[in-house]
Amino acid sequence: MGEFLLGLHCIGCNREYGPWAVDYVCPRCGPVAGALDLVYDYRLLSQRMGPGTFAETRRPSLWRYEALLPVSADYAVRLRAGWTPLYTSPDLARELGVGALWLKDDTLHPTASCKDRGTAVTVAAARKLGRPALACASTGNAASSLAGFAAAAGIPCYIFVPRTAPTAKLAQLVAYGAVVFKVDGTYDQAYALALEACDRFGWYNRSDGQNPIVVEGNKTAAFEAWEELKGDLPDFALVSAGDGSVVAGIAKGFLELKRVGFTDRVPVVYGVQAEGAAAIAQAFARFQAGEPVLPASERAETIADSICVGTPRDALRAVRTVAETGGGFITVSDGEIVAAVRELARRAGVFAEPSGAAPLAGLRRLAADGTIPTGGRVLLFITGSGLKDPRGGLEGVAEPPVIPPTLSAVEEALG
Ligand SMILES: *Cc1c(COP(=O)(O)O)cnc(C)c1O
Ligand SMILES: [Zn+2]
Repeated sequence: MGEFLLGLHCIGCNREYGPWAVDYVCPRCGPVAGALDLVYDYRLLSQRMGPGTFAETRRPSLWRYEALLPVSADYAVRLRAGWTPLYTSPDLARELGVGALWLKDDTLHPTASCKDRGTAVTVAAARKLGRPALACASTGNAASSLAGFAAAAGIPCYIFVPRTAPTAKLAQLVAYGAVVFKVDGTYDQAYALALEACDRFGWYNRSDGQNPIVVEGNKTAAFEAWEELKGDLPDFALVSAGDGSVVAGIAKGFLELKRVGFTDRVPVVYGVQAEGAAAIAQAFARFQAGEPVLPASERAETIADSICVGTPRDALRAVRTVAETGGGFITVSDGEIVAAVRELARRAGVFAEPSGAAPLAGLRRLAADGTIPTGGRVLLFITGSGLKDPRGGLEGVAEPPVIPPTLSAVEEALG
């Protein structure tokens, strides 16, 4: 497979590059402005594929979408990525006044976040290309994901995280045996350092916004929702956004389903950002006003560490792709995010990290201001497990009482 891949298209200058001609970004435009988009022969695909094509592969993983991926499943490592459950949540839907609510539970991945999608395809690409080592900079989840898949592939892995990365994510990195650099600085500084190191040592870089293969893995979440809903796509889809690669991938996935003729309607996609780290939302506002889009570097602060990004590395791609679905970006406060963590856990039984629950907070806003009308059918992508960063679940909650081991103490506590 990989036979339908036509090449790479620069979203900045529209230059085309052959398949595998460039590893990362357009050499003329540079990062962000020169993000490369993988382009497939959609016409040929629509002739060769039918709605049953994916199911026929019988693969319970994202490799069922091999036809729309750049690498053959022969290069996949054994860890499963993708094919996560989609839950309905009628209870929450009723309360929010929407017609239907689905939760795509991407917490159920080998390393417990949606990052395993982009990683799975990127590591397969590294194997195809025969790259000797992998590396990335990350707020935490892309790093633990890469470390896990590199371990399964038996390829050395070098990781750059800000020293503030949550303990659980660091524990994963160390357990998987990655070489970890805790950078005394922000994510943005760790990112720049990883770039330099990859350049110097020849490591294959998985960092968001650098490696265009990551987006190809990310888009499979949209394909799965289409299959799980038997082709009846929702009206709206929400996912949190930091660098923008995940939301761009999901929007691309829906748009590709249209390009191959599997749907004539795509969901309106919204990226959800934290108020303290809203660079893409601001870029989108400039885009709508016809002003230059590219974000400047800003300070970022939010409890949602996976979307705590001051310099989003895939902002242009995210803005353009989301706009193509007719959607946009919305910001929510840390208080709303923490409330969403609890609500999702209590009402749906899904424990997400703050970034994973943020789309529920976004839905509340969009339902309140009428952007999502009563009766609208909504899909939320829940991107990371609550075990990744338990602070979100503990924030503002009273400690459970300590009691002596007697039934009377239980009665008293229930009192
Ligand atoms: C990475 C991540 C996101 C956002 O993805 P970007 O590509 O950085 O926008 C959201 N939630 C979780 C849990 C993540 O790990
Ligand atoms: Zn270019």
